[in-house]
Parts: sequence; C-alpha cells; structure tokens
Amino acid sequence: MNFRPDSRRFDSADIRPIEINQLAPEPARPCAVDLLQTVGLRPTAQRLVLTQLLFGSGDRHVTAEMLYEEASGSSVQISLATVYNTLNHFAELGLVRRVSVDGSKTYFDTNISDHHHVYLENRHELIDIPASLVQLGALPDIPEGYEVSRIDLVVRLRRKGRG
Ligand SMILES: [Zn+2]
Repeated sequence: MNFRPDSRRFDSADIRPIEINQLAPEPARPCAVDLLQTVGLRPTAQRLVLTQLLFGSGDRHVTAEMLYEEASGSSVQISLATVYNTLNHFAELGLVRRVSVDGSKTYFDTNISDHHHVYLENRHELIDIPASLVQLGALPDIPEGYEVSRIDLVVRLRRKGRG
C-alpha cells in the first residue's frame, strides 16, 4: 500500500463511528469470562449474562425466579431451567452459596464468606450478618468421623402486631 502523507485527507467519509461493542466490551464482561474460565466452565452467552447479573453489582441474594426475571430483559434467551441448572452448578463449584429459608425457597448468595442471615419475612429479603457478630452456644456432640462443615443461621424477622 502506498501511503503518501500529502495525499491524505479527512472528510466525513473517513470518520466512522467507533464500534464500541467491538473495541471495548462492557467493563465487567471480561471478569465474567475470567470467572467462568477459572472454574472450568465454557463461557456461553447464557452463562455470561447470568454471571454478569449475579456478580456485576456487589453481593446479592437471589432466587432462580428472580434471576430468570432479570435475565428476561437481556437479548439472550434463557429458560428458567437453564437459570436453575446454572445456579446449582455455580453452587457446586463454590461460586455461590445456597441459603434455604424454608422448604420451598432457596436463595443463592454471591457472598461465600462465613456469615449468617436475617430474613425479613414480609419482604422476602435476606440480609447478611457477619459471623463475628453472632455467638453460638455449645453444639451437641458430633458423631465420630464427622466435622462441622458450616453452620447456617437464619434469624427470621416479622413485623410486630401481625398474626
Ligand atoms: Zn448472605
């Protein structure tokens, strides 16, 4: 290619809009890819969207239904079954932690550090309690050959004066 500086001219045809999507992916996107690759998961479009929603804005507690609702706003089609499978997969890999509030409701917690929860029954909301703020009494004897893996404490709160 012959390039002569004197022949170079700029006009509107030379100015093309910068394709931001190609040059600079969303800042958090590489993190989602890294996170998935770190645990050996292929970064599919669905997993990327779910990873971004889960880990893109600080620690959170979500149910599969909540995440499904959020994902439905994205351009990638994701079924509720995929959301369930992905969350369970993430939990098995230690990326999120399951918190069961009652038999039918499981939250997935992106904060995997040692902590407990307050559950606001009327708002269906979990709030973290640092483990250091909770003093647990003595535990019953543990059967031989076992050790405590983790203690999950959920303090359920409801508004006073309601049946
Ligand atoms: Zn939590």
